[in-house]
Amino acid sequence: MQNLTGKVAFVTGGSRGIGAAIVRRLAADGADVAFTYVSASSAAAAQALVQELTGQGRRARAIQADSADADAVRRAVEDTIRELGPVDVLVNNAGIFLAGPIGDASLEDYERTMDINVRAPFVAIRAAQASMPDGGRIINIGSCLAGRAGRAGVALYAASKSALVGLTQGLARDLGARGITANVVHPGPIDTDMNPADGDRAASLVAVLSLPHYGESRDIAGMVAFLAGPDGRYVTGASLAVDGGYAA
Ligand code: NDP
Repeated sequence: MQNLTGKVAFVTGGSRGIGAAIVRRLAADGADVAFTYVSASSAAAAQALVQELTGQGRRARAIQADSADADAVRRAVEDTIRELGPVDVLVNNAGIFLAGPIGDASLEDYERTMDINVRAPFVAIRAAQASMPDGGRIINIGSCLAGRAGRAGVALYAASKSALVGLTQGLARDLGARGITANVVHPGPIDTDMNPADGDRAASLVAVLSLPHYGESRDIAGMVAFLAGPDGRYVTGASLAVDGGYAA
């Protein structure tokens, strides 16, 4: 466990999957947490997560904010700063995976992928960094496909996650003098709604891993907690694979 007592965390896409595991872990480690979601169907789950966290003595907020809407992302960060205080730990987790042959990918697919997977992290970082305390943490959730696409049909998604690597390295340089770190965590196949362990793609994904099984959301949350905590203070500009050995 890391000691995040007194820290404020902001997590995008915290209602389900990897994001919800990150919210739970950062709160368990002591942080007050605000998180976003987008779907009306996730509102009840988001409020239940808020109740869970407040029951543990944390301050918690669920904010409906579409990452495709730059103003909504900026407002969500600003609301968090106003209500909970400056963001110590920013986790850009919300993402979409539009797959298919490149000939079928439309300009709209490109723009939606880049808006949610790349522009939203940029907007959240810009909104949070000015008041981020020295020693703050920026953690972007990439993908093992950023380093190696590995199969057909993932060009748009891989492009968006690779862009996060450049963004993160630049941030490390921009913010390092303030002791603020910026890193990318690259998950391999993690059992979530986006990539269920019993889905059509699962067997072919497991076949190319070193560890022959899916990971769990808490595996990613553990790495995020490490980077967010005091033990992660000298790690910056790094790409950290939590991918079952996909890249090996
Ligand atoms: P899920 O699809 O299971 O959950 C996505 C979460 O992000 C939900 O909380 C969802 O909110 C939110 N979200 C989606 N779109 C938006 C949006 N436009 N605005 C705000 N929030 C949004 O995804 P995972 O948990 O599997 O993935 C999380 C991250 O990890 C993503 O960036 C993904 O690319 C990355 N990743 C996942 C892998 C995997 O195998 N699962 C592998 C590699 C990377 P709501 O509930 O409201 O819809």
